[in-house]
Amino acid sequence: MTPANARLARLRGGIAPVEVGARGIESVARNTGCVRLRAIVIAGLTPTEIIKHVFGMQPDIMSPFAMTLSQAYERRLLDNGGSSLLTAYREKQMLTQLEVKVSSVANHAPGGSSFAQHQRVLETQRLVDLKLRGDPLAPNLILNPRLPLMLVGVTHPIELDYLVASDRDPFYRVGVIKSYADRGGKTDKSDIRAALREAAVGTLALGQHIVSRGGDQAFAGDRVDMVLRAPGSFIPRLFPANRAESELASLTRALSAAPADLDHVERLVPANTSFADRAVIDQLPNNYRSNCKEHCALWEHCRAQALSAGLPIILGDQASEQLAAAGSIARVIDLLDGSGRPPDNPAEASLASDLRAASALLDRIANG
Ligand code: SF4
Repeated sequence: MTPANARLARLRGGIAPVEVGARGIESVARNTGCVRLRAIVIAGLTPTEIIKHVFGMQPDIMSPFAMTLSQAYERRLLDNGGSSLLTAYREKQMLTQLEVKVSSVANHAPGGSSFAQHQRVLETQRLVDLKLRGDPLAPNLILNPRLPLMLVGVTHPIELDYLVASDRDPFYRVGVIKSYADRGGKTDKSDIRAALREAAVGTLALGQHIVSRGGDQAFAGDRVDMVLRAPGSFIPRLFPANRAESELASLTRALSAAPADLDHVERLVPANTSFADRAVIDQLPNNYRSNCKEHCALWEHCRAQALSAGLPIILGDQASEQLAAAGSIARVIDLLDGSGRPPDNPAEASLASDLRAASALLDRIANG
């Protein structure tokens, strides 16, 4: 075990590590202000594992129907040598009839053993290196590639859906497959952003690989591909070469924010304790937001903490912004009815006057 892995094992306090994957790393960028989530992910755990092993509860899981649909759709696109995926790329004229070189990394070394996982990393790196060298034998599609992503000095392996490049493309783009139905402008924008950010995690890993071979990280580019599903069918809808500059920037920002190294994570944990201790999780600074429910299994716990602390975020994001000067719901009530100490500063004074004006307006509307 490397020294960094030994330190991580100590932090986990006996809970087995899990692969947080591109999705887990992407979730960190959804709440950049949350030290709790970042520390848990850096330690090689997920909020779901914390809920199970530390809180002894059953986490929310994807509905069995949604999970089956997602797995079946992914299999449909990646099985049979990725033939459905190839067809989708041909139809969009992103690959020609002659660009049919497909390599399945999962088939090269199937299974969950450490040996098979390591072989998949080596095979992915070998295939990517072919493209880096401009070798005409480089595949056009690499299915289920596995790459290491270095995060605060610790390697997190990530398995992606696929990489794609035509023979004339200088390098690969990362592709992500989602079983969401494509409803045009009505497709949930936050789902789309999350999918692009998940693919962008792969772009970061590709960039690190290029650097490890002496190249420039920027060669990994800033475009990612996304495949959704036509409503009511398994027909793929390909959205190629989406700009992912802002997703890459938000990921880079999120991953470089504190705790940005293992020393810092360790300083968050009191001596002789670990993340297996509920009190340690409770005292990690968090940043509950109304969208936490969409991506983090700890949302009920963090919401309960926000409620007991009387934080305005409980009333929603907009209320939280507007009541920020007061800092707590109790203080908002003080300012509204003048029962507590007078406003501490001009921001509180302005909020107190806005609250009273809103209350008077509400009275007029309610009482005529
Ligand atoms: S639910 Fe809690 S731990 Fe998860 S992102 Fe939100 S505040 Fe952070």
